[in-house]
Amino acid sequence: MKLIYAGKAKSLYELDEERALMEFRDDLTAGDGAKKARKAGKGALNAEISATFMELLREKGIPTHFLDYEAPNKHVVKRVKIVPIEVIVRNIATGSLVRRYPFKEGTEFSPPIVEFCLKSDEYHDPMVNEDIALALGVVSSREELAKMREIALKVNEVLREFLLEKGIILVDFKLEFGHDSEGNLVVADEISPDTCRFWDAKTKEIMDKDRFRRDLGDVLKYYEEVKRRISQN
Ligand code: 5GP
Repeated sequence: MKLIYAGKAKSLYELDEERALMEFRDDLTAGDGAKKARKAGKGALNAEISATFMELLREKGIPTHFLDYEAPNKHVVKRVKIVPIEVIVRNIATGSLVRRYPFKEGTEFSPPIVEFCLKSDEYHDPMVNEDIALALGVVSSREELAKMREIALKVNEVLREFLLEKGIILVDFKLEFGHDSEGNLVVADEISPDTCRFWDAKTKEIMDKDRFRRDLGDVLKYYEEVKRRISQN
């Protein structure tokens, strides 16, 4: 199969003109790729977790690139043109937000905060406003950003409610978007413990990639626990 693109944790292969195969690898990176590791089984866990979330979004009428889960570690996805903007939704203050602004760790936001960042390791994913995104040419209109914001907030509502029933707090997450062949804006990439922060609702234990970023240990044990909880009815 022809490799279309290899990122830090996933590889994308061509299936046909309309579809691609997204392989979730066992690589873990942090700090724009500065810190690296491999954990056997991580790719399969993220592929399964992300498939569950993508299927949930589909049920709720939110457009995504997801077509099918091919166990253990692949998704069949629509081929899309990725918008080089990361959309971050935050329900609770932590991470880079408390490093950059005088927010107190753990502050709850209602309504949630939405941030747009440029996808660029070289520039460390800087936050952009509408004017910068338009001037850089990474989006074609203000409406496109507004639409991304609206979908991201809807995704937040759906995931937040679903996860809370499983005893997991959705702290924050990052989404990517793409345009399909008909020009529709769809949620792309993955939704997993690599791209979200999850805290145990009772103990507030960290159940996501912060375990790797902050050397807390037991990374896969917690990814496994997220998978176990979300696959229960
Ligand atoms: P922060 O800006 O606090 O580091 O991250 C906010 C949220 O977005 C976290 O859930 C984090 O996992 C996710 N996020 C932000 N940037 C990236 C990125 O470049 N890659 C990944 N995988 N997740 C990101």
